[in-house]
Amino acid sequence: MSKNCLNVFERDDCLKKLANEPVDLLVIGGGITGAGIALDAASRGIKVAMVEKADFSSGTSSRSTKLIHGGLRYLKQLEFSVVKETGKERAIAYRNAPYLVHPEKLILPIQKKGSLGWYSTSFALWVYDFLAGVSKRDRKKMISKSEMLKLLPQFKSNELIGAGLYSEYRSDDSRLTIEIIKKAVSFGALAFNYLEGLDFIYQDKLVSGIVAKDHIRKQELEISAKCVVNAAGPWVDEIRKTNASIGKKRLVLSKGVHLVINKDKLHLSHAVYFEAKDKRMIFAIPREGKIYFGTTDTVYSGNINTPKTSKKDALYLLECMNDAFEGINLKLSDVVSSWAGLRPLIHEEGKSSSEISRKDEIFISSNGLFSIAGGKLTAYRSMAKRVVDLVNKKRNLSNKKCQTSSIILSKSKVDINNIKTIKNQLFKDYKISKNDLEYLWTRYGMESKKILDKKHVNPNPKIALVINEFDYCLEQESVWSLLDFFRLRNARVYFYPESISGLIAPIAEHAKQKLQWTEEKKQKEIDALNVFLKEAITFE
Ligand SMILES: Cc1cc2nc3c(=O)[nH]c(=O)nc-3n(C[C@H](O)[C@H](O)[C@H](O)COP(=O)(O)OP(=O)(O)OC[C@H]3O[C@@H](n4cnc5c(N)ncnc54)[C@H](O)[C@@H]3O)c2cc1C
Repeated sequence: MSKNCLNVFERDDCLKKLANEPVDLLVIGGGITGAGIALDAASRGIKVAMVEKADFSSGTSSRSTKLIHGGLRYLKQLEFSVVKETGKERAIAYRNAPYLVHPEKLILPIQKKGSLGWYSTSFALWVYDFLAGVSKRDRKKMISKSEMLKLLPQFKSNELIGAGLYSEYRSDDSRLTIEIIKKAVSFGALAFNYLEGLDFIYQDKLVSGIVAKDHIRKQELEISAKCVVNAAGPWVDEIRKTNASIGKKRLVLSKGVHLVINKDKLHLSHAVYFEAKDKRMIFAIPREGKIYFGTTDTVYSGNINTPKTSKKDALYLLECMNDAFEGINLKLSDVVSSWAGLRPLIHEEGKSSSEISRKDEIFISSNGLFSIAGGKLTAYRSMAKRVVDLVNKKRNLSNKKCQTSSIILSKSKVDINNIKTIKNQLFKDYKISKNDLEYLWTRYGMESKKILDKKHVNPNPKIALVINEFDYCLEQESVWSLLDFFRLRNARVYFYPESISGLIAPIAEHAKQKLQWTEEKKQKEIDALNVFLKEAITFE
């Protein structure tokens, strides 16, 4: 049986294979863009490898609003093609990963001094549904002020006229990325985290591979490839610089921040997308006992590896919420977690970051490097299709057409039409609480069974379940650190931060044994996680 590159215990063997056998396509960047390209290529039979310098999805693809959405805001900018594409992609994402992509009705309040009135909102939502081809059942509905207040009783009513209710989808960006990577690997792709592309190798002045640094084994290796795609999100220009191919079109990075509060701070049964006093649009979204809200949009020129939520960002978002909702009086001390991400946008002269198009663009350098920049999480599949179509046209790697619109994102075989029954059966077969089942199901879907089937190695069933989850991630999702596990595999640092203190010691001890950490390494891992938790609620 062939080895699994996402199993930490089989990684070394897979990496040897990568160093010894040239691939057709090498993708730099393990965010949603790189993951999508790897899946598209692998499913067309192309020999593909993907390298990620840190953990999968650790860049922008874990720091978004986590919506699979058409981007209502882009209608205002007359970006019909973006709205149409992302609108259609929502339905495909839902069809292919129903455990991970959840329909979410959003409320769009209409306010007296707002940018949109009743009729213009109704028209805009109609166009939105029309462009996305939304089914009749899910199309927008206009609701009166009193109907809206029944749904959102704390929304300030003095300026309120009514609201539009429309359909979007919520997901988890990191989980979506890792699920796509797992699926790509099941089609034969090789994918490695902690493997950084350092430089390019050239043959006859054309890119023919990369020099990479393995941060796990602290060694360098060369990887040969017929074609290299740079899908490094905010780092795309750094890589183009290394390749001496940066042209006139450059990235501009825009920082976006989200804050998380406990749900007892605000009664929010529905997600809401409201206009703040300064006319910017803000999302507030309930998830797993928490509410997260954002975002900001400011040009960023700091360190790409460490964007942070500043005090100014945090105070701005709290003010937006306090202005919109009655009597909540949110303070910095109410924030239980936060994240900041960088949008990789393509610079347009004279436009502010919020006005720049979210369209993606592919650049091909004269020495043969393909770079993909811009885009949205939601459109990852169609972006990947465009990249692989183009690479294929230029390099003739496969005669197969794109398959991904019908690829179910699950490693386990599943009858997608029967998904509810499968979930209910899981609940009957394993005597775990509804919350624990929801937690596992919305992260691992049908693979939850593999976690539940593992032998308990801790007398406390709650801790045993998390240890089993960790083991699953070691064997199937290449998890190497405590922070990656709690941030990028299960998002506990954002949505269950209070649960972590009771889990750190047993999970760290278990990880130490499994990964043969020294006591010093174990302590470093614990410290890194604690520092992250502290920084997520410290604003300077
Ligand atoms: C605040 C915010 C909110 C957003 N909300 C939404 C939303 O709700 N819905 C939506 O559809 N989109 C949203 N987006 C956009 C979406 O998140 C991004 O378009 C998407 O995540 C970009 O993915 P990516 O793979 O291109 O980049 P990234 O996720 O950043 O991936 C690039 C990867 O390349 C790696 N890398 C860099 N250099 C190297 C190297 N030398 N070697 C190996 N690897 C390297 C990095 O470590 C990184 O992991 C949002 C963005 C932001 C910032």
